[in-house]
Amino acid sequence: MSSYNPYNNVIETIKSAAGVLGLQESDYLPFMYPERELKVSCPVRMDDGSIRVFDGYRVQHSSLRGPCKGGIRFHQDVNTDEVKALAAWMTFKCAVVGIPYGGGKGGVVVDPFTLSRGELERLTRRFTAMIAPLIGPEKDIPAPDVNTNGEIMGWIMDTYSALKGHSVPGVVTGKPIDIGGSLGRPEATGRGVMITTRETLKQQGIDPKNVRVAVQGMGNVGGVSAKLLDELGATVVAVSDVSGGIYNKNGLNIPEILELLSTRGKLLKDYQNPDVQRISNEDVLTCDVDVLVPAAMENSINEDVAKAVKAKIIIEGANGPTTVAADKILAQRGIAVVPDILANAGGVVVSYFEWVQNLQSFAWSEEEVNEKLNQVMVKAHGEVFALAKEKNITLRTSAYSLALQKLVKAQSVRGVFP
Ligand code: NAD
Repeated sequence: MSSYNPYNNVIETIKSAAGVLGLQESDYLPFMYPERELKVSCPVRMDDGSIRVFDGYRVQHSSLRGPCKGGIRFHQDVNTDEVKALAAWMTFKCAVVGIPYGGGKGGVVVDPFTLSRGELERLTRRFTAMIAPLIGPEKDIPAPDVNTNGEIMGWIMDTYSALKGHSVPGVVTGKPIDIGGSLGRPEATGRGVMITTRETLKQQGIDPKNVRVAVQGMGNVGGVSAKLLDELGATVVAVSDVSGGIYNKNGLNIPEILELLSTRGKLLKDYQNPDVQRISNEDVLTCDVDVLVPAAMENSINEDVAKAVKAKIIIEGANGPTTVAADKILAQRGIAVVPDILANAGGVVVSYFEWVQNLQSFAWSEEEVNEKLNQVMVKAHGEVFALAKEKNITLRTSAYSLALQKLVKAQSVRGVFP
């Protein structure tokens, strides 16, 4: 992790949106601070009998528009400022797509690939117990993020339910279907990225069939984005993961690549195909494409990358992939950056659908989930693009302005306690 502090990125963005809206500082000051921050230490019995202690965090940025909502990340670089930034982005994301949630986020400082499955499960259960006083279907609802998945959500749901003495499916989203997960949730973030890309191309009068795409990060978000953009007719020429990038100017065989990556422990470096050229992660960001989808970690598009990017459109699949300085360069260069709080909101939208289904003890069909997701994304996309055009501002400032407007309104009707 570099010294770059992603929370400063949040503050900068709130300030520029407040400027567009002509707000007084007291209108937006509460959103500059997380409501609650919890730091926990989780002792875990390792397979060899020793005990290790893992640091973890849960941050609730805002519960103004509803319960806090946001994923849990397992990564060695997790730290308090990163979790604070991720929690704040969730608040703005839920507001921009108009779902009744605030923002939260959690993380554990661990490289989960160094743990056995048993150790991972014990860590997850202990972390859940440590944050249990804060979470709950009416308070704060975690979900998957980097290096966490449906299986881990299942352990969280089971641990929380055991502590409560009854089954509580609505405490977490992104669960397996058998215990109340929603159809369409695993693909939802990538589907939202595809819808956002499709609508952006439509708005610019470009046929997806004439578009070349690069995707950084082939995990949940990037993998599904690549698959659905490929199915939309675009040519995905470059993808990367933590092991490096691959390139084929005629288009990569995305289903074959995803098949390989679906095996635990397999990475792109294991992909064997004579038509594919090995390239660096930076090359994936700067190669000759029309659309770039950063879908790995924060801070990957810095000033140097921003100067070298060839794509005309960037769809932020990851949270916070562009630094503030890079964002300015991209704006000057006329590159359209569809911001994370819009582009990757598909995941939280279907998490919301999952939670609604859990509260009603009712399950929707996958078609219904996907259609409702499409409606939410198309509407939010239209609003963000319309305001950007009307005010001649970037798409990011537009999205934040729309979200901030909703937060300020909610604050004014709720009032400030006491
Ligand atoms: P994931 O763990 O499933 O995948 C992350 C991918 O990024 C992996 O392929 C990994 O190898 C790759 N990666 C890591 N470092 C990299 C690097 N330096 N260069 C290239 N690739 C690298 O995680 P995910 O759930 O897909 O999340 C990715 C991003 O999307 C994160 O910013 C996350 O916060 C955001 N996000 C996730 C969801 C969700 O529903 N999972 C929703 C919204 C936003």
